[in-house]
Amino acid sequence: MEKRILMVETGGTIAAEMTEAGLAPGLRGTDLLAYVPQLRDLCRVDCLQVLSLDSTNMTPAHWLTVAKAIQERYGDYDGFVVCHGTDTMAYTAAALSYLIQDSPKPIVLTGGQKPIYTDTTDSKTNLLDAFTVACDGRIPGVTVVFGGSVILGTRARKTYSKSFGAFSSINYPALGVVRDGQLIPYLRPAAGEAPRFFDSLDPKVSLMKLIPGASPAQLSFLLKESHAVIIESFGVGGVPAGDGGEFYRIIRDNLALGKIIAVTTQVQNEGSDLAVYSVGHRLKSELGVLEAYDMTTEALTAKLMWALARTTQPNLLAKLLYTPVANDILCYSE
Ligand code: ASP
Repeated sequence: MEKRILMVETGGTIAAEMTEAGLAPGLRGTDLLAYVPQLRDLCRVDCLQVLSLDSTNMTPAHWLTVAKAIQERYGDYDGFVVCHGTDTMAYTAAALSYLIQDSPKPIVLTGGQKPIYTDTTDSKTNLLDAFTVACDGRIPGVTVVFGGSVILGTRARKTYSKSFGAFSSINYPALGVVRDGQLIPYLRPAAGEAPRFFDSLDPKVSLMKLIPGASPAQLSFLLKESHAVIIESFGVGGVPAGDGGEFYRIIRDNLALGKIIAVTTQVQNEGSDLAVYSVGHRLKSELGVLEAYDMTTEALTAKLMWALARTTQPNLLAKLLYTPVANDILCYSE
């Protein structure tokens, strides 16, 4: 039976045209399809234009728009392909993983490093590969299909700004590859019985990346502006004078006010373990700061927004954060 796939178009380089001020999305879903006519042999495709944005301009409100578009049409299709800019695709993939949980159908994000109209584009292959995964159905749930790799939505990160193999799977193996139009699955996440949709996020989450000599006042400012702050710290997790200095006091006082503070690491691979060094240990053992463990910063950001929309109670929020969703966190200890 011919599969029915919905292509959800949001913009990005894949759909970009050259303007006087550089590349900007302009092509519509039907224009993209015209560049890859083979897709029509693979499945029956409908196009839905929900946005036309450089993904730099995406916000959590746009993630909700995309999730809602899929929810409203979920029963009508066998799978979904979301065309998206690459710059924030990993954030959207993570957000969709929390907003649409246990999906038995594939929801595949893809895009391109070069616009689809160019001779040297990767967009056509990526689009074809994404449809291959969406039609195949053996890898359910939210994924990023890019440069021939199939990456879990909660584990994707853009690791190359120009190369075609732009995305990596962080702290988790790639789920498979697409070779010559065939999906070769390495891992198959368990398919849920039915999807669970969520329709709210709390966007008041900020991120502070530490540098040597970072100012504690910056953290105070972010905490004033936000319900949760992620501190992207060093190594397995260390904050300057996190064992009793200014950062420690700011964190302590803000936790007492009900703010959520989570520590992650700027090191891309292997995640955090705050308990190891004294610059992290007391933040966790005495203050109860949360940490990312092996979650990506993209996933942690989206998960905090999702969790904060469910509860503001710190204990319940910690429970939500540390409960795995779509294999986003594997190595944690409370
Ligand atoms: N700036 C573009 C975007 O994220 C880059 C791309 O799509 O590759 O929309």
